[in-house]
Amino acid sequence: MKQTTRLAPSPTGALHLGNARTFLVNWALARRNGWRIVLRIEDLDGPRNKPGAIERTIDTLRWLGIDWDEGPAVQSHDLEPYRAAMRGLAGRALAYPSESTRSEVEAAASAPQEGVHETVFPSSLRPALAPRDFDRQDTNWRFVVGLGPVVFDDHFAGPQRQEPSRTIGDFVIWTKRGQPSYQLAVVVDDHRQGVTQIVRGDDLLDSAGRQLLLYRALGLGPEPAYTHLPLVRGSDGKRLAKRHGDTRLETYRALGVQPDRVIGLIGAWCGMRPEPMSAAAFMARLDLSTIPREAVVFTVENDAWLRRRSD
Ligand code: GLU
Repeated sequence: MKQTTRLAPSPTGALHLGNARTFLVNWALARRNGWRIVLRIEDLDGPRNKPGAIERTIDTLRWLGIDWDEGPAVQSHDLEPYRAAMRGLAGRALAYPSESTRSEVEAAASAPQEGVHETVFPSSLRPALAPRDFDRQDTNWRFVVGLGPVVFDDHFAGPQRQEPSRTIGDFVIWTKRGQPSYQLAVVVDDHRQGVTQIVRGDDLLDSAGRQLLLYRALGLGPEPAYTHLPLVRGSDGKRLAKRHGDTRLETYRALGVQPDRVIGLIGAWCGMRPEPMSAAAFMARLDLSTIPREAVVFTVENDAWLRRRSD
């Protein structure tokens, strides 16, 4: 079977240097190893989506020299595959409707983020389990999380042992907005798009255990391989965000910064000699074993280097 990966941006804002690093490493690993690449737009987080963000994200990826073989596949265009998964889980007593608070629903819609509190759903609130029809799509549904660890080997983060029953409990897989949660949508799509290699930021490392449980409950396989990379952070140690300045690629582009400089900085963050380089050169030099294990920090010097006209 051909190995396949995906680039899965959420159109909730413009691409910044942190997202760009993950996408560039993902793309380079794919092109080096002959993996097929699917571009998937994760736009189910309705209220946070920004108009025009899909087009801008695609344009920025192209500007960097990133390409793909299939897509864009836009999640919101067809909800039927997610409903089918829900019918399967509900029919096998692996999901149940559950009244939840607004914040729980919102947390379910988006990919979990570091620093955002996630509550453990107490098993005492789980109703008696029984096969059900997935008939109420305007209510939240939770997945029945089994006891015991989920064990897997992450290609970057190493051996993992997660226990979702202790850290999260029964989590929301369908929201009362009438849409799948992030966790369910990712698993359904990764499976139907033939994804075998998942490369993403390590803020989603904890999600891998939940997603593997869903794979197993849905009887899907083979399970994908995971590579979770440390996030890019600001000098305060927090994940790169607006408060660290305007690190959007389109802003640098508007200032006349060339993509080879952005790629050069990302290369330096991946253990390469800091010099402007093309996406092809980055691909040729990328070596997972030289990527620093700790988070990358975006500094004022990095910003100055990007803006410099020549060396
Ligand atoms: N769309 C998610 C994000 O932008 C990525 C989800 C994933 O890679 O599983 O954070």
